[in-house]
Amino acid sequence: MNEAVLILIKPDGLRKSLTGNILTRLSETKLEIVAAKMVRVSEELAHAHYAHLENESFFPDLVRYIRGELHDRRKTMALVYWGNGAILKCRQLAGATNPEEAEATSIRGSYGRITTAGLYENVIHVSGNQEEAEREIKLWFKPDEVIVPLYPLKEITKDKVKTNLWT
Ligand code: UDP
Ligand code: MG
Repeated sequence: MNEAVLILIKPDGLRKSLTGNILTRLSETKLEIVAAKMVRVSEELAHAHYAHLENESFFPDLVRYIRGELHDRRKTMALVYWGNGAILKCRQLAGATNPEEAEATSIRGSYGRITTAGLYENVIHVSGNQEEAEREIKLWFKPDEVIVPLYPLKEITKDKVKTNLWT
């Protein structure tokens, strides 16, 4: 079944010059890229993205990590891939959350590390399921930034310019 998945190349991935490598690995899936951009992640976006981990001791570090404050590089690359079994295909390429447990040839197994503070710097984010993907894609992208109509929209007109919003 065709589905969408949010991929983030996290600041450590950008810092380590892994963008091309990761995109090449993802291209092996034959999925289609339907959205892509560089993002300067706000405190609010970081908190919303990782809301499920708010009570973890590593949460403050996780927010600093995704905002690029641990890598002197305040940017993250966000993409949406679309196609058959997109979530499982991308999660398999990414490997396990803990880079030490990830298969050695996976992206996280190849390039991730655990910091001395215990944070998993694992190079890439991949949505875990369809619900998560929808929530995350709506958080990171406006409808007009995604080239296929993934979710229901509503049109608004401001100063005679029509814009779409997620409903
Ligand atoms: N994370 C961590 N330590 C943990 C669990 C998670 O540092 O014990 C970080 C890690 O960077 C991970 C992110 O928090 O990618 C989000 O965690 P989640 O459980 O959603 O894992 P994912 O879906 O990224 O595999
Ligand atoms: Mg997750």
